[in-house]
Formats: sequence, structure tokens, C-alpha cells
Amino acid sequence: MADRERLGKVKVSEAEAMEVAEASREKEWARPSFLREMFLGEFRLDLLHPYPLPPTDEEERPEFRAFYNAFRELLRDEVDPVEIDHTGEYPEHVVDGLRKLGAFGMKIPKEYGGLGFTQIEYQKIMGLLGSYDGNLSALLSAHQSIGVPQPLKLFGSDALKKKYLPRCAAGDISAFALTEAQVGSDPARLLTSAERTDDGDYLLNGEKLWCTNGTIAKLLVVMARDPESKKISAFVVETDWPGVRVEHRCHFMGLRALANAVISFEDVRVPAENLIGEEGKGLKIALTTLNDGRLSIPNGSVGLAKAALEVCRKWSAERVQWGKPIGKHEAIAHKLADMAAYTYAMEAIADLTTAMSDSHSFDIRLEAAACKEWNTFRGWQIVDEAMQIRGGRGYETERSLEARGEQPIGVERMMRDYRINKIFEGSTEIMHLFMAREAVDKHLEIAGSIIDPKKSGQEKMVDFFQKMLPFYAAWYPTRWVGWGRYPRFAEFGALAGHLGFCERSTRKLAREIFHGMVVHGPKLQNKQAFLFRVVDVANELFAMAASVTRAHALAEARRPEAAKAAELADLFCRMGRRRVRQLLRDLWSNDDSRKYRVAQRVLEGKHSWLETNIMPQPPARAMKPPAMAGVEPEPAPQERPVGTH
Ligand SMILES: Cc1cc2nc3c(=O)[nH]c(=O)nc-3n(C[C@H](O)[C@H](O)[C@H](O)COP(=O)(O)OP(=O)(O)OC[C@H]3O[C@@H](n4cnc5c(N)ncnc54)[C@H](O)[C@@H]3O)c2cc1C
Repeated sequence: MADRERLGKVKVSEAEAMEVAEASREKEWARPSFLREMFLGEFRLDLLHPYPLPPTDEEERPEFRAFYNAFRELLRDEVDPVEIDHTGEYPEHVVDGLRKLGAFGMKIPKEYGGLGFTQIEYQKIMGLLGSYDGNLSALLSAHQSIGVPQPLKLFGSDALKKKYLPRCAAGDISAFALTEAQVGSDPARLLTSAERTDDGDYLLNGEKLWCTNGTIAKLLVVMARDPESKKISAFVVETDWPGVRVEHRCHFMGLRALANAVISFEDVRVPAENLIGEEGKGLKIALTTLNDGRLSIPNGSVGLAKAALEVCRKWSAERVQWGKPIGKHEAIAHKLADMAAYTYAMEAIADLTTAMSDSHSFDIRLEAAACKEWNTFRGWQIVDEAMQIRGGRGYETERSLEARGEQPIGVERMMRDYRINKIFEGSTEIMHLFMAREAVDKHLEIAGSIIDPKKSGQEKMVDFFQKMLPFYAAWYPTRWVGWGRYPRFAEFGALAGHLGFCERSTRKLAREIFHGMVVHGPKLQNKQAFLFRVVDVANELFAMAASVTRAHALAEARRPEAAKAAELADLFCRMGRRRVRQLLRDLWSNDDSRKYRVAQRVLEGKHSWLETNIMPQPPARAMKPPAMAGVEPEPAPQERPVGTH
């Protein structure tokens, strides 16, 4: 167990944490971003159109096609998701099978022994896995979407890449260790320390929580802070080094096989060359890793949505109640239509953002966040509706269904496994905050001094005349002027009107962000309801624009599904337009202040009178060193999961 007293030396105030987080923000926008432009009121359709359709099965590289087929066969012949869920372990033969296929090196360049897949190829595998087994998705994704290969590829020295990437590609499982008990969404305040030794190495002390793959990982990427400078750095740590210990294997509502651990570090000596990138850039490295890495979740969500749609389509046609199939009753029919339209739109933004990542011509940090937030929100709605459509059978386990002679369809497992996607790799709220910060970025750059308490009155005056007036005199009036109507988007035929709506709403959104700044001033940063609606509007418009351009590209490519895609794009956009109008109205007509006031009274216990006639929650067990609160005894060696160190 790590020395907790030593950790006590590292104290970070809230203001310092905000400063660290701000310092770790990528500030440059060297490449264009559709959403960043949207926040400024520019509807840059040219960044999405022509829509980059992923290759068809026939167009794919033969090398990838062969892998895909072999991977599918492995899933079909070797992987039993019900058994994995039931035992809560990854079967050894499955992990070995994945190793033999090279699945741990899909994203690793060939020169380091990997398969060198593009994002599109890698994400196609993630989509397939998302439709089948969440546990395996998490294993492969934690390893190479965010684990050691990703930050090494982006920031590692040649020596580090040569040392570790071949090992990762060969199947030495890796993990990403950022979260700690006290710091979840706010990693800038992390406490794990990395002290420089006299001979230039680092001594690592601390404890990481919820490290996925942690119990079976050979390699970790660990974010830790210099206790003196307080700067955070990122390191590759080998789990068999002295002082690294798995303290506890965590268990969850779903993803029962997740090899997730509390890992402690006690005076772990990390060689200087295992520093990733520059010293002090660790949080930036972690956040940049997540920018691209978090594409796996939205792509996996598409797989899940497709699987749920198939289940519900078949069941709604087959199940007869009140004299007709349930899919003919309007309530269920509407759910099916929503599911189809959302699945189409989810795929539209996931494929688009993934292709943008491959092209390296775009800065996708906002689009990836939008994709993660939007697809997990819609994915959760879809799995919830799938449960409703399947009725009692949705709630029943696969094994129980099978024992009764029914088809073992695991909607309850899907639901349990899926829910975490709205929490990890940037929760829904944190994705909104991240995007909202960028939505107001230009305004802060231009007008930030007006709300900066450190600036004198004279400095504010100078900035007003030199920066604000010239910028806003040109920018604001032009947010009112534009043409989103015929014939501007005529080439999109029946879908043109939706793009016109997007263009007009983009300018309106930018005006409303500006109005929000004028009305709320410095308090805007605390107006999360306002800011989150701004982000929701942008995400809806992004999904609408992607849906229309995708349908258009399918038609241009004369794909057989083109007309059907246009039908779904049209329905999705009609629903999207209603949501956008409502969200824009709610910016100024809402119960936000009242709700916040009531919430504070709830926090103060003023409404605890409601919490009567219930059984009390169990208390936390006292911390008893060296074990942690709630820690189960470590399994005996013979019971430990495959590869546990
Ligand atoms: C199964 C599982 C696997 C995981 N795998 C990994 C891993 O491999 N590596 C790793 O480093 N971490 C991992 N995590 C940690 C995960 O990333 C965190 O759970 C996540 O960052 C949220 O942190 P938290 O749970 O402490 O929630 P908290 O930060 O305590 O937040 C609680 C709630 O408050 C919201 N919230 C927080 N701050 C704000 C704010 N400023 N404004 C509005 N709302 C806010 C959050 O969105 C959330 O809804 C994993 C977690 C789980 C459960």
C-alpha cells in the first residue's frame, strides 16, 4: 500500500487545479474544425461535404478484409458473451486467439510489429465488438485506444516506441491509469507523485483507481505529479517492477469480466527514459490521448444500436398482442422509427469523425467529444427502448430465456454493459463542459479582459477599444446576415431544407452565445444549463449535417441503400429541428434559477423530510490499513484471472 502520508505533501487548491486544467488545454487550432467554426456562427459545410464514405466490403484492403473475417470467426466460434458475463473472466483461449490474430496491435504501426490499421479499419472492429461483447471491447480498447500504444504513438520518443510498441502489439496488455479516489472528472488535482531522484530517475508513489485491464496488464501509462513543481507527467510503468501492487479488483453492474483494478505504487523506480513526451506535459498527453482514443466508444455504440434495432425489428413483427404485431401499434412503431433514425445518424457522425481522424487534415477534438457524448446518449435511449419493446423478456437473462426454450437475447446484459459509456472516458457532463469551454473560447480571447479581475480599469478600456470593438463591430452584424434558403443547398434535393435550417441555426447559435456572455458576464461559466443547451444545439446540428451529407454521398455513389438512407436522414432532421428550436427557446425561457435554488435547499437537507420511511444506506467501512475500505481479499493464485501479475 502506498505511503498515504507522503501523498499528503501534495496539496492542490481549487484555483490551482483550474489553472492546471487550463494550462493543459490545447489552445492552438492549426487545422479546421467544423464545430469550432459553428460556435463562431460559420456553417462550414465544405468541411463535411463531400461526405467521406467508408469503403465497402469489396473496396477494403484485402489484408484488412482477411483480418476482419478471421476476427468474426473468432467471435462466432470461440467467444460466448453469456459465459464471459457469467464467469466474470476473459477465457484464456479467447485472449490467446486475439493475440494470435494480432488484435492487440491493430492500431500499432507495422514497423513496430502491429497491423497498422487506419482508424476506419480499427473502428469497424470496435463496431463489430460493440454489437457482440462489451467486455472484449473494453479489453482491446483500454489497451490500444487509451493504453500505452496511443500516447506512445503520439508523444513517445523513438527509443520508447521501439522498447514497448512491439511488446504491446504481441499482446502484452496495457492500461491507462489516470483516475484516483479523490479525482475522477477533475484529473488536474491528481495526487500520485513522481519525485525526481538524484540520478535522474523518478520515484512513483500513490494509488490509481478503476484502472481497466489493471489486473492483467504488463504495462501502464501512469500520470503523476512532481510534488514540488506540481507539474504532471506521464510515464510507462511495468507492472512487475518492485512496488507496483494490485490492491483490489473492482466489480461493476455490467462489464463483469473487466479486469479493473486499484493499483498502488510504493517507491517505484521509473527510469528517466520512461517519461512520455516532456516533463510537465502529462495531463495534456492524457487529454490528447483521450481526444482520439474516445472514438472507440461512439463506434462501439453504433454496433450496439444496430444489434438492438435488429432485435426489436424482429420481435416487433413477431410478437402479437391485442390482435396485431406490436410493431403495428403506434407507440411501438414510433420507437422503431426513432431507433432506425438515431442509428443512422449515430453512424453518420461516427464514420465522419473517424474519417476526419484518418485524414489528419482536421482538428477533431470537438467532433470526437460530440460523437462520444451524442452517441452514448442516443445509444442509452436505444437500449432502454429495446428493453421496453422486448417487455418482460428484455428484463430476463439469456440463460433463463434459454432454459425456458426461448431465444437467448440479452437486452438486460446489453443494458448493464452499456451504461458505463456515459461515465468513463469523459462523462456526459464533462464532454459538455469541454465543448462549452471551446464554444466561448474566441469570445474569451477577445473580451476576456473585461471579466478578468486581475486587469485594471485602464487595461480593460484599452482592450475594449483595441480588441473588442473592432472584432464585434464586424462579427456581430454578419451573424444576422446569411442565406440558407433555395437555391443554396439545391444539390441536396429534398434534404436541402434541412441544411438551410442548419445554416440559419448556426448563426443564431453564435448570436445566442454572444448574448449569453453579455447578459451573464463572468457568471456564464457557472451557467451550465445555458452552456449545455448551446452544446446540445451544436451536436444536433452536427448530426443533422452529417446525416444529410452522408445520404447525399450514398446517392452520388449509387449505393442501393441511398433512397432508404435519405428517408432516415429526413426523419432524423425533422426531429432534430424540433429539438433545436426547443433548446434555443429554453436558453431564455426556463426554470434554471429556480431549479438551482431548490437543489441548494436539497443539499442543505431542507427537503430531507421526503426521505422518510426508507431503510438507511450502509455506512462506509472504516479504512483499515493496509487493505482499503471495501476491499475483498485477493483471490488465491490459482483463482486469479489469466495473466494476473
Ligand atoms: C468501469 C470503469 C472503468 C474505468 N476505467 C478507467 C481507466 O481505465 N483509467 C482511468 O484512469 N479511469 C477509469 N475509470 C474512471 C472514469 O473515467 C471515471 O469514473 C470518470 O472520469 C468519472 O469520475 P468519477 O466517477 O470519480 O465521477 P466524479 O468526477 O466524482 O463525478 C460524479 C458526477 O458529477 C459529474 N461532474 C463532475 N464534475 C462536474 C462539473 N464540473 N460539472 C458538472 N458535472 C460534474 C460527473 O459527470 C458525474 O456525473 C473507469 C471507471 C469505471 C467505473
